[in-house]
Amino acid sequence: MALGEAGVIAQTSTTPTTGEPMITAYITHPDLARHDMGEHHPEAPMRLEAIRARLMRSGTLLQTVQVESGPASDEALERVHDRDYLVDLERRLPRQGIAIVDGDTRLCPDSLRAARLAAGAALKGVDMVCKARADNVFCATRPPGHHAERGRAMGFCFYNNVAVAAAHAIEQHGLERVAILDFDVHQGNGTLDIFRDDPRVLICSSYQEAFYPWRYLDGDWPNVVNTPLAAGDDSAVFRRRVEQEWLPALERHRPQLLLLSSGFDAHRDDPLAEIELCHDDFYWITARALDVAKRHADGRLVSILEGGYHLKSLPVGVEAHLHALLGQPWCESP
Ligand SMILES: [Zn+2]
Repeated sequence: MALGEAGVIAQTSTTPTTGEPMITAYITHPDLARHDMGEHHPEAPMRLEAIRARLMRSGTLLQTVQVESGPASDEALERVHDRDYLVDLERRLPRQGIAIVDGDTRLCPDSLRAARLAAGAALKGVDMVCKARADNVFCATRPPGHHAERGRAMGFCFYNNVAVAAAHAIEQHGLERVAILDFDVHQGNGTLDIFRDDPRVLICSSYQEAFYPWRYLDGDWPNVVNTPLAAGDDSAVFRRRVEQEWLPALERHRPQLLLLSSGFDAHRDDPLAEIELCHDDFYWITARALDVAKRHADGRLVSILEGGYHLKSLPVGVEAHLHALLGQPWCESP
C-alpha cells in the first residue's frame, strides 16, 4: 500500500516512481457510451472504446481492479452546482434528437444519465482511496467536466466531475486540504469558477494560452496556480514549469488527496490544440503527482479523464498514465 512519511522521494526528482506495485481501480460504465453529441463530434463514444481496446491488447486493463460506476446524487451535484442550473439542464434534455446547450455542447436523451455516471465514478474513486480499497483510481469517463461552471455548461461539460469529487472529499470524508492538478490543454475554468478563493482546494492548471475557454484570464487567487503555455511549447517547457510552479505550491499546501483532471489533448498529435507534449510526459506528470500523494496524502490519488481527441494517441497517453499509477515502468510500444 501507500508509503507514509518515511517513503520520501526527492521533490524535484525526475526519476519515474516505479518498483512499488500499486492497486489501481479503473472505474467506468457501459452507459457512458450512450452520450452522443452527433456524428463528427470529437467528444465521441469511441474515445472510451479506443482506450479500452488499447488497454486490453496490452494487458494493462487486467492489472487494474475494474469497477462499475453508479449515478451521482442530487446532493453531490448541488455541492458545486446551482440547483437552478441542474433543473434547467434536466428541462433541456430532449426526448429524441439533440439539444444544443452551448456551441458544441449538446444533449441527447441519455446525456445526463452518462454525466451522472461520470460524476458518480469520481465520487466512488474518492470513497475507494479514502477507505483504503485502492491506492489510486482512474475514472475512464465521459462527458468530461472541468469546463462546467457552477451555473453553466460549456466545452462538452455538464457536471464538473473533479469538483464534485473534491467537495465530496471535504464534506463526506472530512478532508481539509485537497489539490486538483489539471494538465488538459484547456484551462479548467469550471474548476476555477467553483473553487477560486477556497483555501481548502489548491488548483494547478496548465493550458495553451489565448485559447479556449477564454475565461478567468485575469485574476490572482491565492489557491490557484495558472500555468499558461505558448503554442509550440514542448516537454522541456512543460516539465520545467510544473517543477517551478506546481511542486512548490503543492509542498506548501500539503494536500490530503490529489485529484487529477487528466486531459491528453496537449499531446502533439491532438487535433484540438498546439502544444507539443509526448506520451512520456503523461507518465512523468503522473509520477510527480504520485510523489506528492505519497508524501502528504498516504498515496491517495484519483484521476479523472478530461480531454484527448486523437483516437490513436489518446489511448497511448492513458496507458502511460496507468502504468505510472500501477507503479510500473513504461516505454511506448506500437
Ligand atoms: Zn481539453
